[in-house]
Amino acid sequence: MTPGLSERLTVVRERIQAAARLAGRDPAEITLIAVTKFHPASLVRDLAALGQRDVGENRDQEAHAKAGELASLGLHWHFIGQLQTNKARRVVSYAHAVHSVDRPRLVDALDAAVGGENGPANGGPLDCFLQVSLDGSPGRGGVTPDGLLPLAQQVLAAAGLRLRGLMAVAPLGEDPDPAFEHLRLLSLRLRRLAPEANAISAGMSHDFEKAIAHGATHLRIGTAITGIRPTRG
Ligand SMILES: *Cc1c(COP(=O)(O)O)cnc(C)c1O
Repeated sequence: MTPGLSERLTVVRERIQAAARLAGRDPAEITLIAVTKFHPASLVRDLAALGQRDVGENRDQEAHAKAGELASLGLHWHFIGQLQTNKARRVVSYAHAVHSVDRPRLVDALDAAVGGENGPANGGPLDCFLQVSLDGSPGRGGVTPDGLLPLAQQVLAAAGLRLRGLMAVAPLGEDPDPAFEHLRLLSLRLRRLAPEANAISAGMSHDFEKAIAHGATHLRIGTAITGIRPTRG
């Protein structure tokens, strides 16, 4: 067992419970995704032994290898990184959800991939979160708030995809509260179009309690659980 892993996971689970109670929310409506990028498959195996079923990865090459090695564990793999269209087919072969859907061509590629012979991992449809850019910096990916509803319409019309909701990363070096509140309001707007697309993927190690206060349903937490990430080889 990875040293300290069990203790850190327990602390994070307790903090989630406390933040949910403080926000008057039911902790059961919050899904913890343990982000395991850069860490070896053995750490993911340890997490599975601790009852952690949802894991997040941001690079196809690494995720594909780990998901293949650990296929027998029946984990739910969440793809959370920027995704090139030419990787869509492979990602769909192991991922249950993609949190970084942010442009029409990627929607087309994912839908086509689900219809292909090698996907998706859960038999389909593929769960999709639309990644929204909250700071207008295109470098980190995400659709602008203006482009959100047209993109949602496209996912709703795609037979192989299931629109789950929104995803965002709070802007770097700023108070995350206004960003998470903006995301919550965008979620309300989306739900007028698609009431079932009520998920909000937000909150990382340093800001997940604030994300919970603003309605996050899927937390993507790495270092607070895994410890410091090894540098990428
Ligand atoms: C790495 C990553 C996380 C987790 O970050 P931590 O600060 O380690 O919790 C969450 N979301 C995305 C998109 C990431 O790439």
